[in-house]
Amino acid sequence: MLSTSYIILNKKALKQNIRYLKKRIGEDVKFTSVIKGNAYGHSIEKFLPMAESCGVDYFAVFDSYEAERALKVKSSNSELMIMGAIDNEDLPWAIENHISFYVFDFNRLEKAIAAAKYMNKTACIHIEVETGLNRTGFDWEMLPQVAKFVNEESQYIQVEGICTHYAGAESVANYLRIQKQMDRFNKCKDFLKSKGITPNYYHTASSAAALIYPETRMDMVRFGIAHYGFWPSEETKMHNLLSDSKKFTRDPLHSVLQWKTKIMSLKWVKQGEFISYGNSFLASKKRLIAGIPIGYYHGYRRSLSNVGHVLIRGRKSRVVGYVNMNMFLADVTNIQNVKLNDEVVLIGKQGKQRISVASFSELSNFLNYELLSRLPIQIPRIIVEK
Ligand SMILES: *Cc1c(COP(=O)(O)O)cnc(C)c1O
Repeated sequence: MLSTSYIILNKKALKQNIRYLKKRIGEDVKFTSVIKGNAYGHSIEKFLPMAESCGVDYFAVFDSYEAERALKVKSSNSELMIMGAIDNEDLPWAIENHISFYVFDFNRLEKAIAAAKYMNKTACIHIEVETGLNRTGFDWEMLPQVAKFVNEESQYIQVEGICTHYAGAESVANYLRIQKQMDRFNKCKDFLKSKGITPNYYHTASSAAALIYPETRMDMVRFGIAHYGFWPSEETKMHNLLSDSKKFTRDPLHSVLQWKTKIMSLKWVKQGEFISYGNSFLASKKRLIAGIPIGYYHGYRRSLSNVGHVLIRGRKSRVVGYVNMNMFLADVTNIQNVKLNDEVVLIGKQGKQRISVASFSELSNFLNYELLSRLPIQIPRIIVEK
């Protein structure tokens, strides 16, 4: 049986994105590929080896489940870090496999030391400090105790990183909050340094921070969305556009992923008729309507009802009516020669046109993150080199 839709991964696009981003951050900054959320929907198993062949050798996942998947496909030269959840009973496994992990509270720190002692090995940790996101991280007041623990157990603890995460660097509305976070981070960094704790990497930046605030890059950038070829926000894109001396005429980021299906049905709907459930779309003229076999079950959000677009024959076609569980309808009245089984691009390029979820005027770039990471694991991923 054939799949109703396919995800194509374009290696050339990834190579170009990495080259561009490496040029922006400079050679001395470690490029880390964030592959949480099934590599933003690209598939950890397919994406990781492809990124390795594009020169990436440091990967970040959210939890030990993702780490286990990454471990199976990564080369022994690549490093792996867990930025979030790991059960205490999995700590020996992480230590055994040289997987570094974030430590953001005393429970984790104590258990990491205990596990390392039990294994008679060294746990490789990233000390996450709280700077204002108020999610995870050691508060300033806790740092003397952290330093004490780490120094007393230095035989069992290697500090790979000291890190934090910003509360929305992609938006200028958060400017002051980000500035405050940078100041707090530097204070933490100086304090730990004064206690003799110096990591291999100070790292704070995600895509947006790295592209907007150069001082956040430090020793390592954790790139997610940008290396998959999407801008964290329009602001980030504009900022880079304006600061690029070679007046960038072409978008330097290319979507690695293309999600495509084909037209399942075509029919004319008369003027004055409502289309699909309810009365959200009224045909004010006679309309040619294509049935697309993708719905919210496949991760195509219901909020794209009447606003999403797809590409057919190199042209944009709008979603009409509600997105259903397994299908939605698109208006193809103005697409010449449209035929059954024509290719439909839901995300990615077709001809000269490109569609990202955020291409739809009213929608925010955050939908890119959400829609990508929710692409069902069952859709086949196919790598192309071109
Ligand atoms: C997801 C994540 C990133 C990557 O963010 P992007 O905006 O996709 O670049 C970096 N660091 C942490 C801690 C994250 O959770």
